[in-house]
Amino acid sequence: MTPLAGVIGFPVGHSRSPAMMNAAFAALGLDWRYVKLPIPPERFRAAVRALPDSGYRGANVTLPHKLAARELADELSDAAAAIGAVNTLTFSDGRIAGDNTDAAGLLDALGEARPATALVLGSGGAARAAAWALASAGARVMVWNRTGERAKELASDLGVEAAERPAEAELLVNATSVGLRAGDSLAGLPLVDARVVVDLVYGDATTPIARWGEERGARVVGGLEVLVRQGARALALWTGMRAPLDAMRRAVVQPTSSTSAQV
Ligand code: NAP
Repeated sequence: MTPLAGVIGFPVGHSRSPAMMNAAFAALGLDWRYVKLPIPPERFRAAVRALPDSGYRGANVTLPHKLAARELADELSDAAAAIGAVNTLTFSDGRIAGDNTDAAGLLDALGEARPATALVLGSGGAARAAAWALASAGARVMVWNRTGERAKELASDLGVEAAERPAEAELLVNATSVGLRAGDSLAGLPLVDARVVVDLVYGDATTPIARWGEERGARVVGGLEVLVRQGARALALWTGMRAPLDAMRRAVVQPTSSTSAQV
């Protein structure tokens, strides 16, 4: 049976993961197939439990299932347990392991850069993973969110600082969804003059925050690079192999349509 993997979300039609992961399997010469798995919340648990018997070795998990995936997993990595969300499931020996590769993927995308201070904008799942990753790497992490209460909750959960009016940081991470829609304004965001800017948001064109960072001469790491790096971590968990990053990078900028599986 051809080994399978997939991305579980609802909706999931927009995902670039199938193009990226199928390109990776092809570059590695692996006879694996990666599909979109559109699964509504009420069917999540039963559908995921059925995947291993259908040939699935692993799955990526996106909105709105990252908390449900944490609850379903038989065991959690340190990152997933601390962040409180799972984006990667590995099926092996009848057990389901939950991990969060968004965290390590962000650090991989930063490369050698290990800023001493970081400002994370947002307080959803992406912000939690970023804040935890950067704090684990030794940075002083501040979190700002439009809804301040959520930033305070995140800060208290992860042992970082909530900042209402942040003034400076070496690294700025946009983990809000600002920039997803054309015409989104940056006016409400506290954009500090950082030397490295990570925008987790990605699209077909340069995002407003990436453009803002480039204009100021910052080093900009885009959301597609973080997507590739978290996918590379997932692929390594499932196959034990080193991911072919360049093949994955080429595929995410030229996504091809791919099949959805019925679950
Ligand atoms: P989420 O849970 O829906 O959180 C969205 C965040 O954006 C919240 O903090 C929300 O603030 C904030 N927000 C929304 N509209 C805003 C506005 N107009 N002004 C200021 N803040 C605003 O989403 P998520 O899963 O954390 O993901 C956040 C973004 O990261 C998404 O765009 C997603 O595509 C991207 N992402 C990228 C990767 C990658 O690999 N590149 C991985 C994960 C996520 P409130 O709390 O005030 O509503």
